[in-house]
Amino acid sequence: MSVKLSFFTGGGVDGIGGNKILLESHGTALFLDFGKSFGEENKYFDEFLKPRSLNGLGDLLAFDLIPPLPGIYREDLVIPTQNWWEKVFSHPAFRDLTIQGVLLSHAHLDHSGYISLLSPDIPVYTSLPSALISKAIQDCGISDFLSEIVYSKRKEILEDGLICSDKNYSNPSQQRPYHVFTHQLLPESVRYFWNQAPGKRPLSPVSLIPILEEKVTIGNLPVRFWSVDHSIPGAGAFGINTPEGWVLYSGDLRMSGKQAKDTQRFTQEAGTLQLLLLIIEGTRASLNTNRGTKHFTEQDVADRISQIIKKAKGLVIADFGPRNLERLISVLKATEEVNRQLVITTRDAYLLEVLSQCGEVDLPNPLSYPHIRVYSEKRVRTSEWESTLLERCRTQYLTAEEVTFHPDDFVFCFSYYDFSELIDINPSGGVYIYSATEAFNEEMQLDAVKLKNWIDHFNFQLFGNPFAQENTDSYDPLHVGGHAQPDELLNIIETIHPRYLLPVHTECFEFFEKHFGTRKDIQLIRPKAGESVVLP
Ligand SMILES: [Zn+2]
Repeated sequence: MSVKLSFFTGGGVDGIGGNKILLESHGTALFLDFGKSFGEENKYFDEFLKPRSLNGLGDLLAFDLIPPLPGIYREDLVIPTQNWWEKVFSHPAFRDLTIQGVLLSHAHLDHSGYISLLSPDIPVYTSLPSALISKAIQDCGISDFLSEIVYSKRKEILEDGLICSDKNYSNPSQQRPYHVFTHQLLPESVRYFWNQAPGKRPLSPVSLIPILEEKVTIGNLPVRFWSVDHSIPGAGAFGINTPEGWVLYSGDLRMSGKQAKDTQRFTQEAGTLQLLLLIIEGTRASLNTNRGTKHFTEQDVADRISQIIKKAKGLVIADFGPRNLERLISVLKATEEVNRQLVITTRDAYLLEVLSQCGEVDLPNPLSYPHIRVYSEKRVRTSEWESTLLERCRTQYLTAEEVTFHPDDFVFCFSYYDFSELIDINPSGGVYIYSATEAFNEEMQLDAVKLKNWIDHFNFQLFGNPFAQENTDSYDPLHVGGHAQPDELLNIIETIHPRYLLPVHTECFEFFEKHFGTRKDIQLIRPKAGESVVLP
């Protein structure tokens, strides 16, 4: 018996994000995440040149952006007259394969994005919050074949061999089976949320399947789930008990957030297992850091935000990453301390409402919480999810006019993409707290310049710096990321002490080489796209 792991282009082994690692053992095949690689996709595509839905999987296969495994994809995205599989037949990773599931570590799209393309009967195993976040993203987003992570509209293949949406709206969308790790039975409101889809088309519902004991058997393999700390609720690590020993997959994790004890528990418990392999993320791995430098925590960020809001005059805008709900709670607390109200977008309210009801995350229900208001953007036509939400929250509803007259009453959770609302609100000065990741590529630098132009135009005082790098002199601790620092990574690895170590989601394999390259007790594996390794 052995364990085989296969790696793919943009699959988390040649950069950050896009994790999709195939594990095969004991007659069972599972993917560890099935993410979209933004880096790899952006080499060829952008906002104005997207993979065409009319060509199904074709555009993605042409650039080796998805694994060349014909047996795992939606049939309605494959055009029978096109010979894609013949074209990729000589690819070293090509083979016909069926899989028994995807273990989804968390709901960031670089881990979940391409689930949309998988055959609708392939089940996803994840935490309850990750499932709900994935559905909320899909419900509120633009509908296309790359965003159907939870339910999909079957496509039609036309006579000329092009793919288009089924125009018969009485044909239901197909829901994918989700098995969710949770600590209690699913509340009625959560089950209702799961089995409804906005829009004209009905949904052929597949109920959430709860897993109450943090363990489940998939095919022939027992699997364990541990919650870990990351910058989105519901993140987890997996353990797969193969006949050769345990394979652990960290997903994305950190030690600096309020759930740091979850990461510690995972590390401690994993260390007691009979371990074969640890697959660990290395986003922050770097050769240029000094051990022992102070790491800021979410609490440091919360304290700094609170300090700024206490002194602020005029409108306050707090800008942080989407679905970073821990940060949202920090801003909410600071807002309550000065008796302002927190203003969130309808998208945030939609997500927060269902997460507050699921019993897994400590969050207020925005529709009944006195210090939260929901901002309603001007729209010619409102989507169904949004209009029903606005009906449910009439008393919380806030318009631009109200803000213009009382800017000192509010703290807005807005980002660059919500800026057109500022034209209607027309603030004269105020405070802008930039609490998101610094620009790390050219595209983000350009966006940061535009962000700064808007801030200057409305005379906001800026705190935090969209251009600054963490650990530099000009760094104001207004943001901490979602990933473990280099010394924390080393501690995790030493505590778990696997026989084999396989770093993913990193741009600095050299860091692992430096620390483990010559070790006899822990053997380092360098994964390569298009290749497989067989252990032991
Ligand atoms: Zn992540």
